[in-house]
Amino acid sequence: MRIAIYPGSFDPVTLGHLNIIERAAATVDKLIVGVLENQNKSPLFTAAERVEMIGLVTKDIPNVEARAFNGLTIDFARQCKAQLIVRGLRAITDFEYELQMAQTNRILAPEVDTVFFTTELKYAYLSSSTVKEVAHFGGNFECFLPSLVAQRVHDKLKK
Ligand code: ADP
Repeated sequence: MRIAIYPGSFDPVTLGHLNIIERAAATVDKLIVGVLENQNKSPLFTAAERVEMIGLVTKDIPNVEARAFNGLTIDFARQCKAQLIVRGLRAITDFEYELQMAQTNRILAPEVDTVFFTTELKYAYLSSSTVKEVAHFGGNFECFLPSLVAQRVHDKLKK
């Protein structure tokens, strides 16, 4: 069974992430979206909320599930019995960091490979942090998010 993990902060999950999830899920038997809990910056949503939202927006893709994790990505990959780590590439600026991470992980866990999906062009400039910034200053961010997630952002900002 071919298992992949797709790790990230997903704070919150965007249409760019969802596009990678759909395409990656079509190439493996099981895709586990790993929601990183231990971020330095304080996240907008708790890990449990992020996991729940990913579950809801991927409910029609049967081989996708979301789980929270802490610590090293390769340890999470091993727990999940995954052979692959999926990452998304938006621009050259992502490349250097991603290459460094992939090569480090390959040394730490030679049995796990990293595969990259290039972004759909229309999502090339989309990141969770941009969405949060636009939302914070009252801009229109709904077009970047699945509608259920956009609603959750509205609710969160009202609080
Ligand atoms: P961000 O906060 O920058 O959105 P995450 O840590 O949540 O980042 O992202 C997890 C993974 O998804 C990373 O590999 C990242 O490059 C990728 N990713 C994020 N946004 C996009 C997008 N719009 N298109 C393709 N890949 C993306």
